[in-house]
Amino acid sequence: MLKRSFLYIFILVLAFVGIFISLRKGQELEASHSSRQWLSMGTVAAFDFYGEGEADAADIVKGAFEEVSRELSLFDSESALFCLNRDGALSFDFSSRTNFLFVLSVAMEVARSSGGAFDPTINPLMRLWGFRKGVVEAELPSKDLLQSALGKVGYQYISIATNQANCVEVRFLRPGMELDFGGIAKGYAVDLAYERLVMAGFTDFLINLGGNIRVCGVPSQGRSTWSIAIRDPASPDRTTGEIIELRSGEAVATSGSYERYVVIDGKEYSHIIDPRTGLPVERTDSVTVIAPSAILADALSTARFVNGEGAIRISSESN
Ligand code: AMP
Ligand code: MG
Repeated sequence: MLKRSFLYIFILVLAFVGIFISLRKGQELEASHSSRQWLSMGTVAAFDFYGEGEADAADIVKGAFEEVSRELSLFDSESALFCLNRDGALSFDFSSRTNFLFVLSVAMEVARSSGGAFDPTINPLMRLWGFRKGVVEAELPSKDLLQSALGKVGYQYISIATNQANCVEVRFLRPGMELDFGGIAKGYAVDLAYERLVMAGFTDFLINLGGNIRVCGVPSQGRSTWSIAIRDPASPDRTTGEIIELRSGEAVATSGSYERYVVIDGKEYSHIIDPRTGLPVERTDSVTVIAPSAILADALSTARFVNGEGAIRISSESN
């Protein structure tokens, strides 16, 4: 009899300890969630983090964004992009500009697969339509200027050669060509931050750079996906009501005219330009792409916006 009561008491104590531990765990999980925002690469960066060591993790993300911003900048005179745009050719040791080389190779691949809808040599057209002037009001370009700018655009006219000493030479085959990674660099920056966080052992986080989002792990106990709301292109400070569920490792990006435009004679012209016609894309909706990496989601959302295509989810198996 005495033995039995001991057993009951023992079970009761165990149950209390169990409830106490799980309550504490729940509190710890709640307490260890943090969220921060800052400005990076000309847009808003956000970092959602679960676990210990948030400050170190955020430093990794900021470092990755700053590195990509510096190395792929149109304006920094040290960047590969700036030197190539200025000189029309650039030679470097393979290992010295890995960020630039990787982004260029993915950009070329997406350019080919999208039939030229995505084109990293878009900059002369961005310039033509007034996007490099830092103002919103612009002028309608003449037909001659449009033709001339079109003659400086075309990913087919980039030559990339590697010699045996691991020296890479990137060369423009037409005069006046200029790269612009505005449609792909933010996605890449998110991937770089993601990879570095995973390498450092962080497990549950969401990285967002101007709507280029990638998630790792889970947002809270009992949930297997992260819920992402999509901005309404007709009224960008609201969401469409559609919710996208992202699994660990997945990325999402949305392209739309509402993000940036210039105004010419009262009409808004999109910052996304069809490289084949030289004209800003006239679309009022937006395109969302879910992909196994943020660089792919970023480049493909721009490409699909130009091609008039809709949303897509690309799984890692189909990649
Ligand atoms: P996103 O917001 O990712 O769709 O990218 C738009 C940015 O990509 C623009 O601001 C330009 O810098 C650049 N861009 C515009 N049109 C194209 C295009 N057809 N292909 C590649 N990049 C583009
Ligand atoms: Mg893009």
